[in-house]
Amino acid sequence: MNSQAPGRIVVVGGSMAGLFCGILLRRLGYEVEVYERAGEALASRGAGIATHRELYAAFKQAGVRIDRAMGVETAGRIAIAPDGTVLGTHPMPQIMTSWGLLYRFLRREYPDAHYHAGAVFADFSEDADGVTVRFEDGRETRADWLVAADGLHSSIRAKVLPAAVPEYAGYAAWRGLVDEAALPASFLEQLSGQFAFCLPEGEHMLGYLVAGPNDDLTPGRRWYNWVWYRPAVGAAALADLLTDECGRHHPLGIPHHLIRAEHIAKMRADAEIRVAPLFREAVRRTERPFLQPIYDFVSPRLVCGRVLLVGDAACTARPHIGLGVSKAADDAAKLAHAFYRTDVDRRSALADWEADRLRFARAAVKHSRSLGAYLGPAQTTPEGRALAEFNRRPETVMARAAATDPERYLEY
Ligand SMILES: Cc1cc2nc3c(=O)[nH]c(=O)nc-3n(C[C@H](O)[C@H](O)[C@H](O)COP(=O)(O)OP(=O)(O)OC[C@H]3O[C@@H](n4cnc5c(N)ncnc54)[C@H](O)[C@@H]3O)c2cc1C
Repeated sequence: MNSQAPGRIVVVGGSMAGLFCGILLRRLGYEVEVYERAGEALASRGAGIATHRELYAAFKQAGVRIDRAMGVETAGRIAIAPDGTVLGTHPMPQIMTSWGLLYRFLRREYPDAHYHAGAVFADFSEDADGVTVRFEDGRETRADWLVAADGLHSSIRAKVLPAAVPEYAGYAAWRGLVDEAALPASFLEQLSGQFAFCLPEGEHMLGYLVAGPNDDLTPGRRWYNWVWYRPAVGAAALADLLTDECGRHHPLGIPHHLIRAEHIAKMRADAEIRVAPLFREAVRRTERPFLQPIYDFVSPRLVCGRVLLVGDAACTARPHIGLGVSKAADDAAKLAHAFYRTDVDRRSALADWEADRLRFARAAVKHSRSLGAYLGPAQTTPEGRALAEFNRRPETVMARAAATDPERYLEY
């Protein structure tokens, strides 16, 4: 242990929140060790991410310069009816990036010697002087603080706040990445510079180009990223989607190669009749669609003794708001500030951090729920129906879904 360091912090989860915490807390001089369950496979977990001001600010604070080289520029939004008619357009220049590209940007900033891939958190215990963290392979480490950056289904949170569980929203996102070279020329002519939406009754599909394999942004070598939100109301429907051919249930998420063929076939068949012809082309040409159920979650607390919750482990807003990565970054940036403050003691600084982040998290979840109000179970109150009606309008979707300026819609 470095005797000069102001303290030692163990971070579990080496994705967005974990890497931001690692980078920013190391900058303050803390000894930080990041432990990540996945091996190198983490880097290839790809999908599109819409960027906005908050994301750029967070990267800047982490000392990571991000610019056009991190994504594909879209000039605006376009909404297309299932029959292919253009319903409207909306100017909103935006850079569309990908999870893998952001991960690699961050990972380069964090020293290999302090990033432990393939380490699965098992348990921890706390005493007056710190925490002892244990991993499934028998490793054990000591720290002053344990940061839980282990995502939506956080196993650390399950130990400190067992009653705090994400609430399934009643719908799931089918997603896919298609090699743009495999798409017809008409597809790219109409959609290449656009963030495109299609709104079949009670559903929502979107798509845009992102960097291709090896983060290649060269036209012809990129991927088209699509997301299709579809209802699957109730616990039984969700369990069925997450059960593989052998009858094994994967409640924390089903790997793409285990999704039952019948579900993929049904999704493909529905695409042929429910989505616009250009989107059908994208679905047809996607070799390995994958599935992500949608949840709402705000933890009641973020500071539990020496355990600090950040990123999706702390709060998960529906992806229509597109804020997940920025919120993870912001949680980390403000946590670093709490560790930097000298005007109050550490506990008070952390209490201020918790209050600030919970206020933001509740506003983000509330807004993202209204954006998804027309998906999933039918609204049962007049207010709910009015909210659903407003948010399903193409003009609302184009202006507000994963917007560049989400902050203006948040009510604190
Ligand atoms: C359909 C969809 C679209 C989205 N679109 C956007 C978008 O456009 N913009 C945006 O900003 N966000 C978007 N998001 C959200 C974004 O992906 C997440 O908010 C973000 O990845 C959260 O980062 P995180 O580090 O907190 O959690 P995660 O990325 O989930 O990382 C948690 C990490 O912890 C590790 N871990 C878990 N358990 C253990 C354990 N026991 N031991 C060790 N390690 C463990 C996991 O392997 C993982 O690497 C979208 C999400 C979905 C589902």
